[in-house]
Amino acid sequence: MVARLGPSEFALLLYDLSSPSEAIAVARSTFAELGATVEIQGHEITGKNQIGLTFSSADYESAEDFLRDAGLAANSADMQTGYQIFDADMHKAAMHRLTLEPELKRAIDNEQLVLYYQPVVDFKSRKISGFEGLVRWIHPEKGLVPPDVFISLAEETGQILQIGKWVLEEACRQAAAWESMEGGFENLAIGVNVSAQEFSRPEFIDTIEGALEKAQCRCSSLKLELTETAVIDNTQLVGQVVKQLEQLEIKTALDDFGTGYCSLSYLHSFPFDTLKVDQSFVRNIDRESRNRDIVQSTIMLAHKLGMEVIAEGVETQAEVDVLAAMNCNYGQGHFFSRAVPEKEASRLLREGL
Ligand code: C2E
Ligand code: CA
Ligand code: CA
Repeated sequence: MVARLGPSEFALLLYDLSSPSEAIAVARSTFAELGATVEIQGHEITGKNQIGLTFSSADYESAEDFLRDAGLAANSADMQTGYQIFDADMHKAAMHRLTLEPELKRAIDNEQLVLYYQPVVDFKSRKISGFEGLVRWIHPEKGLVPPDVFISLAEETGQILQIGKWVLEEACRQAAAWESMEGGFENLAIGVNVSAQEFSRPEFIDTIEGALEKAQCRCSSLKLELTETAVIDNTQLVGQVVKQLEQLEIKTALDDFGTGYCSLSYLHSFPFDTLKVDQSFVRNIDRESRNRDIVQSTIMLAHKLGMEVIAEGVETQAEVDVLAAMNCNYGQGHFFSRAVPEKEASRLLREGL
């Protein structure tokens, strides 16, 4: 039985299966069919779909529970195979998120969010050229909650707008403080991560200008990081936003480069200042020639297009040596420093790494 549950949500009910593999076979062929490229009015459109599987053997009492679990599994469907089979941990994770949500609402008001700073180091001078601001949630009972746990939750609930604004204001306040710190630190670039939801808002540019104004910090101190995946999903909008930011002299970086299958032609169309090569390519770059070739070509292309390159996730001296020899501009990673609280970051600035 096939049913349509929502605008782009469908359910397939399979009867009399002799084994789970039969359901998997159906999921695989459905994924392949729906993922095929079709031509509509001269445009090639490739469908995306995610399939979640759950089995009646799990003793469901209601159809709603059955559909809920299939939906949960679909959310974490594998990109390659297109499907995911439900397991009880997914339910636990969903319940965990459910309890975190109302707490996250209070986190900003109760001053539980903190911005940590990870140094970005110039390979030539070996000095700190800036920092990336990375948000942390100091939960009263759970302790330090990492962003990958609560940022995706905040994106789902829309709380990311409020969190993003707070992060932006905090980063600008800190940038202004470093600008006026003794020792001449006025040229630091402070990276701020921006979610797709934030830059899709009509008031996005106003929010940025408001934060800069409030903190009295220079536009050029701010570097907004947009992930490659967010860029691919919103190419038209990103083009406009990045151009507007360029006019305002606010810097931009294309984050996690290499993870989202960004077409190289996009690089040419968006005036990003910086490209951040994802850590999966940087890891073991001294030992893996495949990664080395990819990063080397990326650096050359980025430089040709007038962009600087930051290598993310640098963990060893050997990786530093290879990247510096490739003319990579900056590095960021545990080899230099983890993300640290503002006091520690200021100390690193004054005393060096
Ligand atoms: P990202 O923007 O790619 O940030 C880099 C992540 O890599 C950080 O994790 C950082 O701590 C980690 N990292 C840095 N150097 C190394 C290294 O040498 N080795 C390893 N293994 N990891 C390293 P973190 O802080 O947990 O942040 C995870 C993600 O959460 C970020 O990925 C970013 O996408 C998101 N995020 C963090 N803060 C914010 C924020 O204020 N707003 C938004 N929208 N997203 C944020
Ligand atoms: Ca980032
Ligand atoms: Ca990144």
